[in-house]
Amino acid sequence: MSSRLASHAQGKVFVDEVFDAVAAVGRATTQFGKANVLNATIGSLCDEQEKLVLLPTVENVFRNLNSDDIAGYASVRGFPEYLSAAIEQTFKNSKPDAYIEAVATSGGTGAIHNFIWNFSNLGDAVLTHDWHWQPYSVLCSDIMRRLETFAFFDENQKFNIKSFESKVRELIAKQDNLVIILNTPNHNPTGYSLTDAEWDQVIAVVNQNATGKKTIAIMADIAYIDYAADPNQCRTFMKKFDTLAPNVFGAFAFSMSKGFTLYGQRMGALIGVSKDKQAIDEFVNASVITCRTRWSNLSRAAMRTLAEIYKDKALLAQVDQERRQYAAILQQRADLFVAEAKTAGLNFLPYTAGFFITIPTDDPVAASNILRQSNIFVVPMAKGLRIAVCAVPVNKIRGLAAKVAESVK
Ligand code: PLP
Repeated sequence: MSSRLASHAQGKVFVDEVFDAVAAVGRATTQFGKANVLNATIGSLCDEQEKLVLLPTVENVFRNLNSDDIAGYASVRGFPEYLSAAIEQTFKNSKPDAYIEAVATSGGTGAIHNFIWNFSNLGDAVLTHDWHWQPYSVLCSDIMRRLETFAFFDENQKFNIKSFESKVRELIAKQDNLVIILNTPNHNPTGYSLTDAEWDQVIAVVNQNATGKKTIAIMADIAYIDYAADPNQCRTFMKKFDTLAPNVFGAFAFSMSKGFTLYGQRMGALIGVSKDKQAIDEFVNASVITCRTRWSNLSRAAMRTLAEIYKDKALLAQVDQERRQYAAILQQRADLFVAEAKTAGLNFLPYTAGFFITIPTDDPVAASNILRQSNIFVVPMAKGLRIAVCAVPVNKIRGLAAKVAESVK
């Protein structure tokens, strides 16, 4: 029988590599016990007891909300106090000298969706790096766009500006609107962060290519920014967004998932930056409609939590301090893995900070299966193994790189 679905919905099957690996972890844990299983699959921060981290001050503020804030509807665009807090948290000392507006979204995912929807046309290509968070692809295909990629790294394992430039040129020659998504700093899955000099090159390329009736919309997906070693230095690139050409729209995908450990509350914001007031107004108007039709409005509790934290600078300092402690543990895990990888001669992609380290390999599934025999669970991606150091305690990281090196031989 032919499908009951409309043609655009037919043949869609969601394959989630991460959750398959998570299920395998569950089975192994039941059979062999937690102590004997190394779970490097999950993209959430866990403490040294392998328990999901919820920052204590965030939890405290959340649990003390009144019943209206727990049960009530929020506004479609999001509370002004939430939106201004999201903007402050995004830019800190590096606010561009431009119009900046935010619209609340369902996590960073919702921000990315709204951005693609409103800045590209049906059938358009959307550009990102070859190493990327897998959902970018379905976020495009589900709304009848397609994801195209450039090579993220050159032969020196630096940002591949030549590949970026040639792909921008190729796509903008074929379409009037081009959406570009760069996941930095602390990229998923490599942990790479573009330097300020690399951002200068990126901005020069987009500015040169957005002329006449061609427009480019460029987004920094900053999901992991709050785990950078220096909160100010990792944001200096943002200031450069006020040098975007008139035909370039800048955006940031803000998320409370990682930075405030509220993954399941699904709270984020799409933040737009432009020197042109009309462009910013258009952005807000179109985005609010997308919010209204996709999810109506979002978690009032999560929005209020961020607003309350920002209302009291002592609370904000406390959250920063708690996060810094966990970021230090994360760094300790990554440092240990990196040191042992070097000793074991294991090649890994350049890591600055963030939740994951990636090992490039020709046959990731085979390598992952070898590791599974030792109850080590990682995520096989298209071109490598993703190791979630965010979830593995230091004592289990010890010796891991040598085993991974064996698996990719
Ligand atoms: N961007 C990247 C690179 C991610 O890894 C994630 C989540 O894992 C997100 C965006 C979106 O997260 P959320 O929708 O929970 O904010």
